[in-house]
Amino acid sequence: MATVEILSAGAARTVTGSAHHVRFDEARVLLDCGLFQGGSALQRRNRQPFPFEPGALDAVVVSHGHLDHVGRLPLLVRQGYDGPIFATAATRKIAEVILHDAAGLQQEDYRRALRRARRAGREDEVEEPLYDEHDVARTLARFRPLAMDRASQVAPGVRALLRPAGHVLGSATVELEGGGTRLTFSGDLGNRESPLQAPAELPRECDVVLVETTYAERNHRSRAATEEEFQKILRSSLARGGNVLIPTFALERSQAVLYELRRLMTSGALPQVPVYLDSPMATRLTHVYENGDNEFRPEVQALLDAGSDPFAPPGLEFTVDTEASKAINDVTGGAIILAGSGMMTGGRILHHLKHNLWREEASVVVVGYQASGTLGRSLVGGAQRVHIFGEEIRVRARIHTIGGFSAHADHDDLRTWLAGTGDAEVFLVHGEPEVMDAFAVELRADGRVVTSPELDRPYQR
Ligand SMILES: [Zn+2]
Repeated sequence: MATVEILSAGAARTVTGSAHHVRFDEARVLLDCGLFQGGSALQRRNRQPFPFEPGALDAVVVSHGHLDHVGRLPLLVRQGYDGPIFATAATRKIAEVILHDAAGLQQEDYRRALRRARRAGREDEVEEPLYDEHDVARTLARFRPLAMDRASQVAPGVRALLRPAGHVLGSATVELEGGGTRLTFSGDLGNRESPLQAPAELPRECDVVLVETTYAERNHRSRAATEEEFQKILRSSLARGGNVLIPTFALERSQAVLYELRRLMTSGALPQVPVYLDSPMATRLTHVYENGDNEFRPEVQALLDAGSDPFAPPGLEFTVDTEASKAINDVTGGAIILAGSGMMTGGRILHHLKHNLWREEASVVVVGYQASGTLGRSLVGGAQRVHIFGEEIRVRARIHTIGGFSAHADHDDLRTWLAGTGDAEVFLVHGEPEVMDAFAVELRADGRVVTSPELDRPYQR
């Protein structure tokens, strides 16, 4: 086996900022180029230079469109990368929505910080946005589509093979082969019981594998139990007459919840009430999903093929402009409202929380992970009073949490997928350190050689 060098510039001993630099002899390939998200210490890392020369890369291959996998691409282009960015066609479409949104948010934050700094006479202390719309446009122009299950040359002497990862629309695992070494990168692997995506295809045997470990320490609740719980909570919430708020992430979770609502409403298990998708980004992404091409579970694909929309419950309304969004404030009961952000840290969901949390007939149904320090975590933790836009709100609505809606592989999914890689040396990435360390112990007990790479440190194999 020839040498290969792996250098993680993100998602090393953390779950965010996925970016792995792989060097085969002379060819240099970057796998993902994601944004660090989370607290300010993590966000600062986005401003640190890449631990490699962007202009010296031969190719970038992207596993899927989540911001923590594509969000630093415009920075890479801004810093001199002018080669191809390989990804599935669906990932390119998702990245377009996600990157434009990211550039817009950065501009907004920048202008707000600037206004504040002017009043304090400290304009020169405000940091410029990481990138702008122009950088995003230049980045999107570099994308080259790669079909699933067909190997193509991506760099001198290096071939790439994408396989469905079952995580979000367009998501892929990436197999690179160069100089006699085969390296497989999991990207993010899906939950085998995803309502929308078929399970990940198993990898071939390889020499080195980089595998995500987001939920390596747990197994998810079954889909049947999750659907049962979702239906029960929605029925009882609607019966109480109030609005039902569902804070959602724009990519995948919104579409999965819309799909479940459609299924329950068309089968008569739930009454057909108005459903608002109050998020311009989730609306755009739902339209990308509606045009998905043979990438869903057969029952989802069958609906698309028959000309019906799997992501449209009967009373669905997309509210894109702010006037339409504000008009929902007049609806005091009987509607289901999906809005971001998923952890209730910003976005339109805050307006809906302000108008509904104090009503005892209202409900909030939490379907995603809530990090500590977020409003979502406070509500799930039973807070009696919260502050929204500087106003104190008494929490009288019922707060429900449904844990089973994960788009990520659980422990058993990861073990099944890893088994396909034979006795490849394992690099654990994209996880919390404690979770990785426990998983490493388990894999070593099976005789695997395991490394949890440190950020910005090269490893030769
Ligand atoms: Zn992801």
